Amino acid sequence: MSKMIDPFGRHVSYLRVSVTDRCDFRCHYCMSEDMTFLPKQDVLSLEELDRLCSAFVRKGVRKLRITGGEPLVRRNIMSLFRNLGRHLKTGELDELTLTTNGSQLARFADELVDCGVKRINVSVDTLDRDKFQQITRWGKLDKVLDGILAAKTAGLQIKINAVALKDFNEREFDNMIAWCGEHEFDLTLIETMPMGDIGGDRVDQYLPLSTVRQRLEENWTLTDIPYRSGGPARYLEIAETGQKLGLITPLTHNFCESCNRVRLTCTGTLYMCLGQDDAADLRGPLRASEADEVLEAAVDEAIGRKPKGHDFVIERGRSGPAVSRHMSVTGG
Ligand code: SAM
Repeated sequence: MSKMIDPFGRHVSYLRVSVTDRCDFRCHYCMSEDMTFLPKQDVLSLEELDRLCSAFVRKGVRKLRITGGEPLVRRNIMSLFRNLGRHLKTGELDELTLTTNGSQLARFADELVDCGVKRINVSVDTLDRDKFQQITRWGKLDKVLDGILAAKTAGLQIKINAVALKDFNEREFDNMIAWCGEHEFDLTLIETMPMGDIGGDRVDQYLPLSTVRQRLEENWTLTDIPYRSGGPARYLEIAETGQKLGLITPLTHNFCESCNRVRLTCTGTLYMCLGQDDAADLRGPLRASEADEVLEAAVDEAIGRKPKGHDFVIERGRSGPAVSRHMSVTGG
């Protein structure tokens, strides 16, 4: 089986799979309130998603992240985790993980552990109840915190992800670092990316992490460390808490040179880069034949088109987002 090496010699070993475009939150920077979701018949079944993911595992993927939309709102999603967990047992896969908003974690934490999940990312942009409701439109902070504590009790290692938003949470990171320190969670801050029309100007939201870091250094001792989690974050150690602080900076620093990732949507579209529109349809090849040769040939063709990098720019007056799809389509 040929492995996936792109035209720039990068080995593709990390697949992110958005299993649904639906979500029980409507975060302002991610979705508009009146989103149009995909018709159900366009969405791959869980069996088809398993077949696709398994083909990628055979082709050298060692890390699989399930995302969305909100992955835990997809009906019967645990059957996909359980099936994919078999690749951990055979040693073909190093890690099966997910990114979630935490709203359903209290229900699923134990089962996730049972399926072989060890670490999860939970997105929490603020620890202020009212602001949480404001940014997520529909979310309840207490439910999310209960879910996070259930996940901790179940033995999951937790990383909190927060999107840095100007005039919204920029004064809260000290508090979040302290809270994460208390619970032994790592924290990753993310610059807002120009993806999808959200009915507002993203320049108003954009907060460079270089500014955030400078401010944090007034209160915390931050040291760059070579640790990598297989994703785009660069890490610092926080001496006072002993936890890690990740920074994802697609705008101030492009992180493409070491990109090992591709992203699959719930309709079977493969995006070779988060920040470009070029994509390959894998649903057609998947459904064309019960054997996987056609599918694998389509994957090889797509990897051959993986671009060198993205080109996110946030500028006042620039019309529209850099890519038209929302983050909930390709998954974060
Ligand atoms: N529902 C899950 C969650 O909340 O984590 C998974 C999907 S969500 C799209 C994944 C991550 O993308 C979240 O951490 C979210 O905050 C982030 N995200 C969404 N839109 C973004 C944007 N325009 N720029 C940066 N991060 C974004």
